[in-house]
Amino acid sequence: MSTKIWLSSPHMGGNEQKYVNEAFEANWVAPLGPNVDGFEKDLEHFLNADVNVAALSAGTAALHLALVQCGVVHGDEVICQSMTFSASANPIAYCGATPVFIDSEIDTWNMCPIALKEAIEERIAKSKKPKAIIVVHLYGMPAKMDEILAIANQFDIPVIEDAAEALGSTYKGKACGTFGRFGILSFNGNKIITTSGGGALVCHTQEDKDKTVFLSTQARDNAPHYQHSEIGYNYRMSNIVAGIGRGQMEVLSSRVAARRKMHDFYTALFKDMDGVQVLTEPSSDFYSNHWLSAIVVNQEITGKTREDLRLALLEDNIESRPLWKPMHQQPVFANAPYYGTDISEKLFNNGLCLPSGSNLTDEERERIALKIQEFFSK
Ligand SMILES: *Cc1c(COP(=O)(O)O)cnc(C)c1O
Repeated sequence: MSTKIWLSSPHMGGNEQKYVNEAFEANWVAPLGPNVDGFEKDLEHFLNADVNVAALSAGTAALHLALVQCGVVHGDEVICQSMTFSASANPIAYCGATPVFIDSEIDTWNMCPIALKEAIEERIAKSKKPKAIIVVHLYGMPAKMDEILAIANQFDIPVIEDAAEALGSTYKGKACGTFGRFGILSFNGNKIITTSGGGALVCHTQEDKDKTVFLSTQARDNAPHYQHSEIGYNYRMSNIVAGIGRGQMEVLSSRVAARRKMHDFYTALFKDMDGVQVLTEPSSDFYSNHWLSAIVVNQEITGKTREDLRLALLEDNIESRPLWKPMHQQPVFANAPYYGTDISEKLFNNGLCLPSGSNLTDEERERIALKIQEFFSK
C-alpha cells in the first residue's frame, strides 16, 4: 500500500519546540505567560489592522464568547451560514438560541447576501430580530463582505466572522477576521497553522479583549478572594500551546504561499477537463489562503460523481473529503429556519476537497495527478 496522502496535516516550522522548551524552563506551564502574550502580538501584527487578539482554547470557544458578548441569550435567534463546519453553529445552541440558516451564493460558496436580507426582514416581521450574523470564509475564500456588512449595518446587527479557515486571506486588501464586531480563528490540527488545538478571538477594542480574557478565565471579580458576578468559562489558551503558535507564526506566510501553489496545481490539472470546476477567487478583491482546494464535479458532463472520485483516490490511499454538509440538512438542526434555495445542497452533492497540505511533495502531487487523470479518462 502506498503511503497515505492526507487532506491537510500539521506542518511544523522548526522553532515550535524552542518556545515550548522556554515555557518549561521558566515553569510557565499555565494558561498565561510570555508565549500567550507573544502569540497574541504576532497575530495582531500579522492581521495588520488595529485589533486586539485574545488567545483561547479553540475556535469554537472563541465563537461562544463572541456570542456571549453580543448579548445572545436563551430564546434569541442568530443568523448563520448553512454551508459550514458544525462548529460555526454549535455555540448558538450553547447559548440556548436558535440558528437561522442562510444559503450560499455560487461565486465564493459563502453566505448569500440576498437570502440574508430576506431572512432578516422576515425574522423582524415575526418580531424575532436576529442578535448576530455569523459569516464564514469557507476553505479560505473571503465572503462578499461589502454586501453583507451593508445589510448588517442597515439593520444594526453585529457580524461575527468565522475566519477559522481563513487566516492569511484578505478581502480588498484587509485581513479576513478583522471586518466584523468579532472574528474567530482556529489552530486545530488540520488548519493552515496549528497549535495542536487552539483558537483566538479578534476584537476591536482593548475593552472587548479584556472582557474576553475575563470570561475565558472563569469571570473572576477584582477581589482578593474568589468572587463572581457573572458566569465564566475555562477557555484560555495555555502557554505551552501558545509556544507552538509562536513557532508557526514564523512560517505562516510561506504556508499561505504553499497552499496557493496547491490551488494553482489543481487549476492546471483541471484546465482542459470539461465538467470540473475549481473554487477560484471571483475577482482581485478576493485573496484566498486556499486552505483547502475544492472542486465541483458535473456528473452530466463527466459521467462521474464526486463520490466515485473520492473512492478512486482512497484506493491509492489519497484522502479527500466531501464539502461541508449544509447545517439546515443536519438532523440536529432539523427544526431551524432556513432561507435560500438549493445552492449549498448542490455544492455538497457534487463537491470534493482535495489534498491541500503545505507539506506535500512533488512525488505526492504526481501521484494525485496520475490518479485523477486516470479516473476521468476511463
Ligand atoms: C475548525 C473550524 C472551527 C472550529 O475551530 P476549533 O478550533 O476546531 O474549535 C469553526 N469554524 C470553522 C469553519 C472551522 O473550520
